[in-house]
Amino acid sequence: MSLQYNREDAGLARACEKAAKRDGIMQEVGEPGVGKRVRRGEWRRYTPKARKRRRRLRRRITLILGIAALIAIAVGVPSLRRSPHAQVPPAPPSAPLPLAYPDPPGIVLHHSDTPARVDGVPLNAATLERIYAEWHPGWATEFEGKTYHIPYHYVILPDGTIQKGRPDHCPGAHARTHNDWIGICVIGAFSARSNPHWRPSVPTAAQVRSIISLCERLMSEYHIPPEMVKRHRDVNLTWCPGGRFPYAQIMAELRQYAASHPETHPVVRRIVSLAKPGPPARRQR
Ligand SMILES: [Zn+2]
Repeated sequence: MSLQYNREDAGLARACEKAAKRDGIMQEVGEPGVGKRVRRGEWRRYTPKARKRRRRLRRRITLILGIAALIAIAVGVPSLRRSPHAQVPPAPPSAPLPLAYPDPPGIVLHHSDTPARVDGVPLNAATLERIYAEWHPGWATEFEGKTYHIPYHYVILPDGTIQKGRPDHCPGAHARTHNDWIGICVIGAFSARSNPHWRPSVPTAAQVRSIISLCERLMSEYHIPPEMVKRHRDVNLTWCPGGRFPYAQIMAELRQYAASHPETHPVVRRIVSLAKPGPPARRQR
């Protein structure tokens, strides 16, 4: 039923008014601003019956909305349950960051100061590991969950085979003051003072080739210049690796290699400041 009423259209007006009065919805023309606006300057007042119906309807809507809000809070709209000051649950603990190991800054060359075989057993990385575990258990180093007894990072056998002792980034136990440098042990006794009868008494040609190739690889990998490849005797009070060790020959090769391999030049590491930049300095007038 339309509540609109047009007094100009007499027939329709009468019919509408009749129907409205019958339904108890509207009465006579009322005060402006009260009831329902019909046309410019004309207002229809609601009958008491219509007002009562509207009030009842309003109460019902208020009640339904109230119940809906209570259900939402009790059952589960999280945004309604959470108080504005509720604490954010703590984030799960993150995994510890992997440790960063600095690259070795140089290389120290040693001899084993032994014959190639001891009691018929060839000396190599595995036998050195067993010997040092027995004789020098205190020199052991734990690294990445593994224990290393062999003090050197590499071992070079008389036939030129290069064996791994410790990982490159594991601290060595080969030169008291330079254990962060790579330690290479060449099997043999190259010092006339320690024992002149052991063999090999000079590094074999295969060993020299392996010393040079291993040093070149490490120099390129860790940006080590040739002047940082030293004998044990250059850094500690010892004869190691002996007077018969061809250091000059090896160094000449390494210098030649470095001249054509710029990656062997030491890298200037950037130091990045984490401090926040301060306010810009004022200009002097
Ligand atoms: Zn040494």
